[in-house]
Amino acid sequence: MKRILGLLVILAAVLLWNSPTLAQPGRAFKLPSSAVKISDNLYDLGRVNGAQGYAILRRDNYARPGGGAAKAPKCYAFMSKGARWKATEAYVTDVESLATETSLETWDSQVAFDLFGTRDLSVAVDGADTVAPDNKNELYFGAIEEPGVIGVTIVWGYFSGPPQTRRLIEWDMILDNADFSWGDATLNPAVMDYQNILTHELGHSAGMADIYDASCSEVTMYGYGTEGETKKRDLAPQDITGIRELYR
Ligand SMILES: [Zn+2]
Repeated sequence: MKRILGLLVILAAVLLWNSPTLAQPGRAFKLPSSAVKISDNLYDLGRVNGAQGYAILRRDNYARPGGGAAKAPKCYAFMSKGARWKATEAYVTDVESLATETSLETWDSQVAFDLFGTRDLSVAVDGADTVAPDNKNELYFGAIEEPGVIGVTIVWGYFSGPPQTRRLIEWDMILDNADFSWGDATLNPAVMDYQNILTHELGHSAGMADIYDASCSEVTMYGYGTEGETKKRDLAPQDITGIRELYR
């Protein structure tokens, strides 16, 4: 009996050791009841001291509506013209993946401005901010209440007024590991590819908007993703044109 118990302890230890570092179950996320729906995938979180918050939902391919959405023939769009980072900020995460830096660099390398700062290891993740910004850019996994939502990126900033006065002040991102399995889809096409989804979501963190026109389905900012997809790990020419225009 003692030996069996010992084996069970070892087995449990091995399982824990092998569990993906991406897993952080139990951290629930839901939009506040005060959030105002602008469209299926965009919610207004309200204003705090003049700063405006938006939550952008990323849905699974299967939730894709049949009809064409808003026209975006250029296949790129901004959350708001001129609303971009004007100071480089660090980010905090408890996701241990080398792909994070790769995705950050995918956008960063296209512009002269230092778009994303380095990871701040001295600060802990304490959750996405849906009511007011807390001056931390956070990236983590959790359980998103709304079904079919792969991830939510929240962006706070100044989106109105003359474009040159607009700016972003915070991004928070939560990826759903309660309903979806994550990993490297080049190794296992059944999983949601972390780098693929992250690169898209970081586009929002940089100020890029979703594209829903079906004729733009190859761009990284196309609003839907699915398991096994890896083509959005890098940027399409339209994504590059867009980010360079925003940070020109
Ligand atoms: Zn999106």
